[in-house]
Amino acid sequence: MPWRDQPTPYYVWISEIMAQQTRIDTVMGYFERFIQTFPTIEALANASEEDVLKQWQGLGYYSRARNIHTLAQIIMKEYQGELPQTYDELLTLPGIGPYTAGAISSIAFGQTALAIDGNVNRVIARLYGIADDLSTRSSQRVIEERVRAIMSKQRPGDFNQGLMEIGALVCIPNGAPKCSECPLQEDCVAFRKQLTDVIPRKKKKMTVKVEPRTVIVMRFGQEIAIRKRPNKGLLASMYEVLHVEGHWDVEDIVQFVPTLMTIYPLLDHQHVYSHLIWQMKGYVVDVKEKDPTWIWVNQEEVINRYAIPNAFQPFIENVLEK
Ligand code: SF4
Repeated sequence: MPWRDQPTPYYVWISEIMAQQTRIDTVMGYFERFIQTFPTIEALANASEEDVLKQWQGLGYYSRARNIHTLAQIIMKEYQGELPQTYDELLTLPGIGPYTAGAISSIAFGQTALAIDGNVNRVIARLYGIADDLSTRSSQRVIEERVRAIMSKQRPGDFNQGLMEIGALVCIPNGAPKCSECPLQEDCVAFRKQLTDVIPRKKKKMTVKVEPRTVIVMRFGQEIAIRKRPNKGLLASMYEVLHVEGHWDVEDIVQFVPTLMTIYPLLDHQHVYSHLIWQMKGYVVDVKEKDPTWIWVNQEEVINRYAIPNAFQPFIENVLEK
């Protein structure tokens, strides 16, 4: 992994935030681009929020990008540009939870701090045959005690990364664990007792809301219309194309966009958030004139300048390709 060769506090911090809820192979390209654009905490602090969101575009969970940006500015102002070294100090910073504080202090500063994420939870639960609901505080205490008992005092960072990596690559989250390749197999209770199907205990499925939406890409020549979203709520401060709740038909859109000249359907697309699914129908609408309340951008600006959520990308790509 690119940050392994140089586990600077900054690299560990950015990579750990990126890796939350995102596959590690996806993170790698994003990490390299991000570090090239913002090579230091100072460069990140001095960047505009728009530039940071643009580099984050596609990773989702955009509040993480905003938190990283804010924290970089706090570090420059209050910590002379250096991340603090201890778990307790790190934990006081906005956007840094117990896992990230543990990862930074152990990997970058060699401190014996725990860094327990979903991967580590799964490995430890299987290794010790812990069949309880892992979301409870008492189960978490049991997991923490187990990890603390076996943690390397000499190389806590390598130990934490080793456990995380076994969880990501061998004792995998979806599908059967690769026990024949696992260095822990000899000691593993779940393997010995054939309990890998039931440990860790499955979480109750969250109910996910399904929302129909209609995306209307307004086009004038080679330009399309976008606008900035409010700076709070879902996809805050990102740029969007026109979209409305429900599945609208052509007549509805003709009435809604008075400058419309022609309208074509685009391919349907579904976008899945953690708590919500947008089932989207799309149209491209050629307009007679540009509505000045929108920002009109060309393909180059869409690619290089504006942070546009993944939900709208298939429609925009489809329109700009035409
Ligand atoms: Fe996971 Fe199998 Fe390794 Fe046990 S032996 S930790 S179940 S991969």
